[in-house]
Formats: sequence, C-alpha cells, structure tokens
Amino acid sequence: MKLHKKTGWAALAACAVLLLMLLSGCGARKEDISSSAESAHAPALEIVCTMFPQYDMLRAIGGERVRLTLMVQPGMEAHGFAPTVQDMAAAEKADLLVLTGGDADAWAESILENISLDKTQAVSLVSCLGENAVYADEHIFTSPRKCLAAIDGLSDLLCKADPDGEEIYRAGAATYRARFEALDEGFSSLAQTAKKPVILGDRQPFACLAEDYGLNFIGAFSGCSTDTEVSAETMARLTDTAIREEVPAVFHLELSEPALCRTLAEASGAQIRMLYSGQEISRADFDAGLTLADMLAYDLAQITEAQI
Ligand SMILES: [Zn+2]
Repeated sequence: MKLHKKTGWAALAACAVLLLMLLSGCGARKEDISSSAESAHAPALEIVCTMFPQYDMLRAIGGERVRLTLMVQPGMEAHGFAPTVQDMAAAEKADLLVLTGGDADAWAESILENISLDKTQAVSLVSCLGENAVYADEHIFTSPRKCLAAIDGLSDLLCKADPDGEEIYRAGAATYRARFEALDEGFSSLAQTAKKPVILGDRQPFACLAEDYGLNFIGAFSGCSTDTEVSAETMARLTDTAIREEVPAVFHLELSEPALCRTLAEASGAQIRMLYSGQEISRADFDAGLTLADMLAYDLAQITEAQI
C-alpha cells in the first residue's frame, strides 16, 4: 500500500470540497464507509464494490436505501490488490457484487471462483455500457460520456433488484447524471481548442477519455501496468514531445510516486501536476467526500490550463 503524496493542487481540491461540505452542513462522516451507516432501517440491498468508481456511482444512485462496501479501501491501490477471506465472505453475503471488469480488477476473478453465487448477483461496470459496447480500455470512468451510460446501467440494475426503490434510484441517478452532462459539455468544448498532448510521466489510463473526446494522451506505461522502470527510448520520446509542444505541465496519477514525472519535468522545464484516474482514492479525499465527478472536474481544469 502506498500513501498518497499529495500535490498542492490535490490539497487545494480536497480543501475546497471540505469547505463546500461544511458550508452545506454535511461535514460529518462516519469512519464506516457504508453509505447507509446512519439509516434507521435495514438497507434494501447489500452491495459490495471492488473499486471506487462503481462505489461512487452507487452511493449517488442508492443513497441510504443501499448499504455499500468498498473492497479497495481509500489509500490502497487497485492494481495488485489481493482480496482477503473477509472480502470474499462479504461478497458472498451481498445481493450485488459490482466489479469494474477487464484488467482493472482482474484479481476479482479469484472471488468469483471461490464464492457461492447462489445469493449474490455479480455484474461489471463495463457490462453496464451494453452488450455490444466498444471501449478503448476498461477505465471507462475516465470518460463522462461512458459514466452517463454506466449510471443508467447501474440504476437499471438497482431498480430490477429492488423494484420498490425505483423512485429513489431514478432520482439519485438523475441528480448525479447532471454533473456528468456538464462534464461531457466541458470536455467537448475543451477538445475543440486543445492542441497539445497531455503527457503523463506515469501510467496512461485515459484511453476512453481520449477516444470519446478526441484528446491526445501519451504516457510512460499502459493503463494497468505495474512497471516502474521506463526505457530510455520512451523517456526520450516523452521529453522530446514535452519540449517540442511546449507543454506547461506534465502529469502523474493519484496515489502514484511521482519520481518519473519529476525527471520528465526537470528534463523538459514543465511543471509537475496531478490527474485523477478515479480508479482509487486517497484517505484524505475520501474523508473530504470527493466524488468521481469532482475528480473529473479537477482533471478538466488541469488539462485546460495545460493547453496554454
Ligand atoms: Zn487500471
């Protein structure tokens, strides 16, 4: 487990969210990360999520009607995660087990192989896009357009599993959808003027965002890579591109050790900035109530600034 080395920008984002929450009077948050911890009634659905994106969406859709458990806890990395016996037991007891799908949580296969699925319905976030959906990689939650489809798929899933809650689920989905519709517009208008590549001295999990909006991302490693050593050729390509395109900033991901990004920044003269991929969340951001939509809004602002 690696702790989040927060950049100044991430700290600012967390502070802004905390301030907003305090102003809106909802700053109190239990250490228990169940969304229904304070509900007087038994939850209508018990849901275990492997990763943060589906947890975040289901939290918005289901509110206090569902009880959520997040397997990759705040501060932990999704890649290389190994589910414990307790994780398996929780999944077996749940009504729904919501995976991400593909390489993002490939380790979840071991859960499906080891638990009885008599009670639990297992679905993936990727499958919410539809049977014939085409996507560049499984980090679909980096794209607001795909998040909208995923929210629709997840709210259909909850309505089917608990028809009595339909009104609540549809209302929760509609409210959260509005955030992603605004982000969809924001990224669409950014793409009309963006000329410079977004350069990551890190993994590159933004293939869906790049494809859906026509943005250009280049990185040192593929989206789910666990590599930390980069070849001299790759480093030279990233550095040359950063210098040629005069990018004002190069990026690393949340929870990532930015050593490689620092080397790239020193070689190119660009600043070091952070982007959220959303696949995991730091403890500080989680406690501040940061949502996936907040993360994408932060990224939109960062990428917009890096076009100057
Ligand atoms: Zn990944």
